[in-house]
Amino acid sequence: MSSPQVTVIGAGWAGLSATYHLAKQGYDVTLLEAGNYPGGLVAGWKTAGGRAVEAGIHGFWYPYRNIFGLVDELGISPFTDWTRSAQYSPQGLEVESPIFQDCPPLPTPLGTFLYTQFKRLPLADRLSALPLLYSIIDFDNSDDAWKRYDKMTARELFQKFGVSERLYKESFEPMLLVGLFAPGEQCSAAACIGMLYYFILAHQPDFDVVWCRGTVGEKIFKPWCEAIEKLGGKILTGKRVTDISLDEQGNANAVICGDERFETDAVISSVGISGLQNIVSSSPTLGRRSEFANVMNLGAVDVLATRLWLDRKVKIPRPSNACFGFDETTGWTFFDLNALHDEYRDADATVLEADFYHANQLLAMPDEAVIAKVQRDIATCVPAVGEAKIIDSAVVRIRRAVTHFAPGSYQYLLPAETSIPNLFMSGDWVVTRHGSWSQEKAFVTGLEAANRVVTQLGKGEKAAVIPIEADEPHIQMMRNINQGLRQLPWLG
Ligand SMILES: Cc1cc2nc3c(=O)[nH]c(=O)nc-3n(C[C@H](O)[C@H](O)[C@H](O)COP(=O)(O)OP(=O)(O)OC[C@H]3O[C@@H](n4cnc5c(N)ncnc54)[C@H](O)[C@@H]3O)c2cc1C
Repeated sequence: MSSPQVTVIGAGWAGLSATYHLAKQGYDVTLLEAGNYPGGLVAGWKTAGGRAVEAGIHGFWYPYRNIFGLVDELGISPFTDWTRSAQYSPQGLEVESPIFQDCPPLPTPLGTFLYTQFKRLPLADRLSALPLLYSIIDFDNSDDAWKRYDKMTARELFQKFGVSERLYKESFEPMLLVGLFAPGEQCSAAACIGMLYYFILAHQPDFDVVWCRGTVGEKIFKPWCEAIEKLGGKILTGKRVTDISLDEQGNANAVICGDERFETDAVISSVGISGLQNIVSSSPTLGRRSEFANVMNLGAVDVLATRLWLDRKVKIPRPSNACFGFDETTGWTFFDLNALHDEYRDADATVLEADFYHANQLLAMPDEAVIAKVQRDIATCVPAVGEAKIIDSAVVRIRRAVTHFAPGSYQYLLPAETSIPNLFMSGDWVVTRHGSWSQEKAFVTGLEAANRVVTQLGKGEKAAVIPIEADEPHIQMMRNINQGLRQLPWLG
């Protein structure tokens, strides 16, 4: 008997995750990718001159337990050790983070507050964050919590809880610009609390981070794709999906790429928001269904990734750095690739990456103007960079790249199951109760979609998804009390 056929659309973290699991379970699985190589937003490639570039440097935070499990399973060791990071403003160094897991453990969020080394921000401003703890307790990632907080902006949330203007501007807004890719007045308060809790507040070591020792494409996706192909999975690039065909019962029976048709027993969509909007626009089948038509209400954010090769070695104090206060609504980070990438470890020249989020206005600038700005801005933080000559550079513009968790967007985000019984959704923007974010979320939702296929088609085992680490006991206790109070009719 032949194996059931499954078609996965989009070869980022989510699509590769679903494809890998189904290939392991013996499904006849085909992954269709519109681009020329797999990887999605994390893909890396070589310039015409043979230099490695990627669509932004990607960190892997302490809670990324499923991704860390994957690299162990693949038998690869792509990551650096845990690294320390710094934060700069036009006034200079503002914050340095320790490696939190090396500090004596304290009940959350004490470690985050006490061990983070603020250079300028007064204690009174830092203490103004304390009332926010109530929202952390109250927001438990449930559907109900998302509905309660999603229509409020993150800016309003911080105002409501009395966070000082300085703490907001110098700490929370920079975190939003790099964590949710948008300024506070454009972010959902629900997404803001969920993201801050996952990356920073749930457990003391959560903000610890590792990086790939080369491009993620080379270090992780290449061996991963080879493993998928060895299992019989097919990864087809240059295949842009335009429609989904349904049988008379309303089940998907084929995925359409222009003139090509891929017969299928189930479909997993792993495309980003703009990718799905393009498919919906060209698909009468999906455009007719309100859940898919409503995806057109969602937004995505522009990002810009730049890489600079300098003519000399410059000492960069920390390998990863976040910056604020340079452009009103744009956040940015810069990285010392000599410290992170094996390829540049012993180079005589310095290789820097600077990535800009919510970079709308920068996308319109010519490359030379972008590179001049990048050098000027990094030199504000590390003056010796301003004295170096740039011998090569790359600018990557990615329009409508990353998910915009805008206020009020939750109602239009899709869950894993759709009105087409054998079409499942995955990706970093799809609703899941897992609690993870970004790459880890994309990977997890891919596994969750594969598990739904296993349940429906009945072949093989489900993937074991590692849950996020449980809340600390005092947080659990406060959540239980809060939930009890919410159920009282006069308080709920
Ligand atoms: C500059 C930058 C920095 C980031 N930093 C971090 C970080 O430090 N840590 C972190 O965890 N996350 C980070 N992220 C976010 C992270 O990249 C994403 O969360 C993650 O890659 C999303 O994966 P995905 O599989 O959901 O979607 P994607 O990576 O967007 O993959 C979707 C795929 O679908 C394909 N596709 C679209 N339309 C079609 C179609 N019609 N037919 C076929 N294929 C199609 C696309 O080509 C793409 O390959 C960053 C993102 C950017 C841009």
